[in-house]
Amino acid sequence: MTIHLAIVGIGKIVRDQHLPAVAGNADYRLVAAASRNGRVEGIENFGTIEAMLAAVPSIDAVSLCMPPQYRYTAAVQALEAGKHVFLEKPPGATLSEVEDLAARADAKGVSLFASWHSRHAPAVEAARAFLAGTRVRSMRVSWKEDVRQWHPGQDWIWQPGGLGVFDPGINALSIVTRILAQPVFATEATLEFPENRDAPIAATIRFSDADGLDLLAEFDWRQTGPQSWDIEAETGAGTMRLSGGGATLSVDGMTVHAEPEQEYPSLYRHFAALVRAGRSDVDLAPLRHVADAFMLGRREMVEAFHD
Ligand code: NAP
Repeated sequence: MTIHLAIVGIGKIVRDQHLPAVAGNADYRLVAAASRNGRVEGIENFGTIEAMLAAVPSIDAVSLCMPPQYRYTAAVQALEAGKHVFLEKPPGATLSEVEDLAARADAKGVSLFASWHSRHAPAVEAARAFLAGTRVRSMRVSWKEDVRQWHPGQDWIWQPGGLGVFDPGINALSIVTRILAQPVFATEATLEFPENRDAPIAATIRFSDADGLDLLAEFDWRQTGPQSWDIEAETGAGTMRLSGGGATLSVDGMTVHAEPEQEYPSLYRHFAALVRAGRSDVDLAPLRHVADAFMLGRREMVEAFHD
């Protein structure tokens, strides 16, 4: 069965990743798009998801790629119309609304996928396997990038629910929560808010676990020069370094796993498997850690940010 797919919220990530990944996967046929301004060539385009769902009954599944603050309403419309739903990350603006979506998907008997693209980076499963066989003593997460380079002109990211530096930072947390064998929890956090913005530009979170793990995560959007998306762990089997956002795994300086990046093709393969199996995949752990940081964190006001 070919999955007739529609995409909603045609912007940067749709053009960069979703369209090529769907085009390269024979399980899907892209049949429609909905966006206020964006368009996809060669298929039917609509201004709203309501108009699209009403006009194209053959749609089986919908990918929702607008900013997180606007995902819930669209997801309810798609689920209530009996469509399978792929949520871009983060899956919503709050934990409660995503839990509601999961319950609605169950009630309708359709699949809901809360995607975490960084979990599909090439070396993440190898890191998980490495850590499963050893004791982790400490871990350092360094996710530091230049917001002006990666998010030019994106206002939603600075608005309530946009998550600020946690928009990329949640990718690191999605990896950490995949590769560690047991749950961690935040013990303290500092969030730095530009005085003219409603979301943090930098954050530091300390985590621990039942065995007293020492985990420090540093997120910063003011990084110019070399960017870092790295996770390093001191373990009983040596120093593990997962670098490049999950692309490369090294142990004691030796590369043990490196493959070309295939995150979105892998996400779409997983979504097709969920649809076929009649299952959902909604892991809220990364979003919960961000919520905990907002709940627990000390706030510091820092210099105003201008694009
Ligand atoms: P974007 O280009 O700023 O936004 C995507 C599209 O959403 C916009 O082009 C816009 O299309 C629509 N949109 C914007 N505001 C809206 C609103 N108020 N109501 C309804 N639709 C609205 O953002 P993006 O970079 O593609 O990111 C979208 C999502 O993908 C985010 O959750 C982000 O975390 C995630 N993501 C982004 C990247 C990346 O590298 N950029 C990577 C992975 C995941 P219209 O104006 O046509 O409606």
